[in-house]
Amino acid sequence: MSGKISFFKSVEHYVDQAAKYTDIPKGLVEQIRVCNLVLQIRFPIRVGNDYEVIEAYRVQHSHHRLPTKGGIRYAESVDQDEVMALASLMTYKCALVDVPFGGAKGGIRINPNNYTTEQLQNITRRYTTELIKKNFIGPGIDVPAPDYGTGPREMAWILDTYQAFRHGEIDSIGCVTGKPVTQNGIRGRAEATGRGVFYGIRECMSHAEDMKKIGLTKGIAGKTMVVQGLGNVGSNTALISQSEGDVKIIGIAEREGSIHDPNGIDVEKLLAFRKETGSIIGFPGSQHIGGPSAALELECDILVPAALENQITIDNAERIKAKIIAEAANGPITSDADRILVKKGVIILPDFYINAGGVTVSYFEWLKNLSHHRFGRLENRFQHNAFEGILNKVEEMTGKEVGQRDRDFLTRGGTEVELVNSGLEDTMITAYQQIRETMIQNPEIPDLRTAAFVCSLKKIASDYISMGIFP
Ligand code: GLU
Repeated sequence: MSGKISFFKSVEHYVDQAAKYTDIPKGLVEQIRVCNLVLQIRFPIRVGNDYEVIEAYRVQHSHHRLPTKGGIRYAESVDQDEVMALASLMTYKCALVDVPFGGAKGGIRINPNNYTTEQLQNITRRYTTELIKKNFIGPGIDVPAPDYGTGPREMAWILDTYQAFRHGEIDSIGCVTGKPVTQNGIRGRAEATGRGVFYGIRECMSHAEDMKKIGLTKGIAGKTMVVQGLGNVGSNTALISQSEGDVKIIGIAEREGSIHDPNGIDVEKLLAFRKETGSIIGFPGSQHIGGPSAALELECDILVPAALENQITIDNAERIKAKIIAEAANGPITSDADRILVKKGVIILPDFYINAGGVTVSYFEWLKNLSHHRFGRLENRFQHNAFEGILNKVEEMTGKEVGQRDRDFLTRGGTEVELVNSGLEDTMITAYQQIRETMIQNPEIPDLRTAAFVCSLKKIASDYISMGIFP
């Protein structure tokens, strides 16, 4: 941690700034800010003829609501400070989007590319076992999910390990979310974070008076976007923004470098190109403009850093030309860079709002798991029959016939993915309106991040107060 600005401290700093715009007692702010439980784990795995000691963490930041919730990341950057910061962001994130969980996060300090699938499975199962031993996992205790470097495969291993130890526990499938759909996951979870980023940007850009202030017209269609990181979040944000929002993706950054095409990059084709060649460089029509951070400095309407933290720092903040930055990653802007950007008038959609789509759909998955049935299964046919009945009556009373296409549309129930996406869309819109309203009510609040923290803090404080712990 030496020499590095503490990520956790910078989150604490934001919380303190926001608390000034509330009347929450100081001691309660302190209780909200601190991490409730920090588990540091070391375990060996066998590599060749030797052993390697693996460093891992799970942090439960807040128990004001249970279970606690948050992903597990596999990355070389993982340390206690990072996991604490990410766990605390989960608390504010869940509160903001009314997902009734406390915040948590896990991390294993490895580069998954350096291990075989078998070794990764061993590491994941051993980590899960450690969590079970310490009572740090369970559908009502703490529910992990994917994060940077993990995905449905790891979640399936976690579930299987948990069930081996907790055989017969009826709600055991709710011990982890982000599972494969075939393993009690939910449709729409894989792309949920990117889809939520799209809904959040679209909602922000739907306010003409806010857009006017930054020299843009209302609406997302036709606007230019640059995306850093083509992992799950970045690629889905780009794909959905392009196909459903008519956004022009003009720049992409990945580990191997940055590319630019002012005429627009077809993201689907680019993903296929990268799969084939292992790189985005050389994609037809695009220009190679430099290293992984070069694209961040491109002139564009919307910049989406969707890789890791600390990408926009005091060193490059002045050169950022985007009008809107959507923090799809957690903590991509350092707090000193944030100050520079806010002063420049950039609209920053803060991480714990804009990337909340993942945990929102995790919540839907957990609800599905606890209810032991797929959304729509019970009511779809009933609803269909009821609507058919109404239409028949309307036809009888008016003497006019409803066409088959209209009839099909009006009588169908939503599929699981449609219900999930509409719940996600509603969540992202409602949360943005709350943040915006908070800023309108209190013109002293300097930016959306502070306003979002104010919203979250008020909700968490009210939970504590209603528990009777604080006056
Ligand atoms: N890792 C994701 C996040 O940072 C998702 C967490 C979850 O689904 O619990 O929000």
